[in-house]
Amino acid sequence: MTGLYERDKRSLSTLSNLRFFPQSITGGKGSYLIAEDGRRLLDFSASWGAASLGHSHPALAAAVAGALKDQAGASHLSTANLPAVELAEKLLALVPDRAAGRVWLGHSGSDANETVARAVLAATGRSRILSFKGAYHGGTSGSMAVSGHPVQQGVPKAAGLSLIPFPDGYRDGGEAAAAQAALDHLRALLDGPVPPNEVAALFLEPIQSDGGMIVPPDGYFQEVEALCRRHGILIVADEVKVGLGRSGRFHAFEHLGIQPDIVVFGKGLGGGLPVSAAVGPEAIMNHSAAFSFQTVHGNPVCAAAAKAVLETIERDSLVEQAAEVGLHLKGLLERLQEKHALVGDVRGRGLALGVELVTDRQTKEAAKTATALTVYRAFELGLILYYVGVSSNVLEFTPPLTLTKEEATAGVALLDQALSDVAAGRV
Ligand code: PLP
Repeated sequence: MTGLYERDKRSLSTLSNLRFFPQSITGGKGSYLIAEDGRRLLDFSASWGAASLGHSHPALAAAVAGALKDQAGASHLSTANLPAVELAEKLLALVPDRAAGRVWLGHSGSDANETVARAVLAATGRSRILSFKGAYHGGTSGSMAVSGHPVQQGVPKAAGLSLIPFPDGYRDGGEAAAAQAALDHLRALLDGPVPPNEVAALFLEPIQSDGGMIVPPDGYFQEVEALCRRHGILIVADEVKVGLGRSGRFHAFEHLGIQPDIVVFGKGLGGGLPVSAAVGPEAIMNHSAAFSFQTVHGNPVCAAAAKAVLETIERDSLVEQAAEVGLHLKGLLERLQEKHALVGDVRGRGLALGVELVTDRQTKEAAKTATALTVYRAFELGLILYYVGVSSNVLEFTPPLTLTKEEATAGVALLDQALSDVAAGRV
């Protein structure tokens, strides 16, 4: 198999232009991808967190093969099937009581968020939604309509959408000041132009991931929750990227000390297969606005994959592993901060970490070019890493939950080298 990258470019849509480097992958095992030229690449991205169990995990392969062999129907629309029912039962048992009503199964984080956005408006009879500047909730029209990431500038927003600031301790004068300013903004909004009794829901990411892996200040979301409860505003936790153990707790919202009404899962839920879920109260998830009629949703193969992912996370204590290895990885990244002037901030939880690169630690000017060069150089050295952030200057770490401490150490050594090469102009 040669020339895969060129064949891909000639045959597939230009989506491939979004890639960070010219990579063709022909296989993978655990935390490593095998490139077309035979190189082993340590994967610190896991395709933006989708490959939660790493590559070629035997439990996932067995579940998918088994579901295909004994396939019972092709969709939960046409007939009840065991894997979809078991997955739904499992998810209901995992979410807070207030969300444990019904499960909607989809194919992506985008379709799940879009469905929830439609359903909360219809079920509450309210016309407005709150979401955060910098938030990424998906790439379909309805999920982009409730997102605030600048990459989607020019995309029509939901009619009643208000975007509020996400408190960023690094850039907004420290945690306390950032939280206060964001709360003041929200309170002023609800006291003025946005009547709270018109707001159906607030969409939140427990760590704002594509916006720059920003961890909200302690206590901030508890205040937001109190405001929402006072006004009957539903809370939607988008756990698509950082949920299911990645943050070092099963749900990332557990770190915030809040109880959402609706929880959205995707990416890592399928371990790389297309499956998502929205779990929420019956009155919302059973509302006709949540009926989306996508032919093969709740299909037994993807449902079996998701069930295997959840079982493996539990059986192999991957939440605990993500917490422990994440702490180790974060410690190593903090040491890079001492060594490389480019590193402005190291943040995150568990195996959802970010390293913000700046040209100057005082002005905090985003080191956009250096970030792209670092990612490219790391790839040349054998480390897969992507970047995020509203200024595209945050290295993102979302490796498989199965990553070991040794692999974390090996990857950071490559990143160390990449940062040195970029600083010395060797790239
Ligand atoms: N929500 C969050 C928090 C995400 O990070 C993403 C993707 O990056 C999505 C939703 C959309 O998920 P998908 O790309 O699977 O549609």
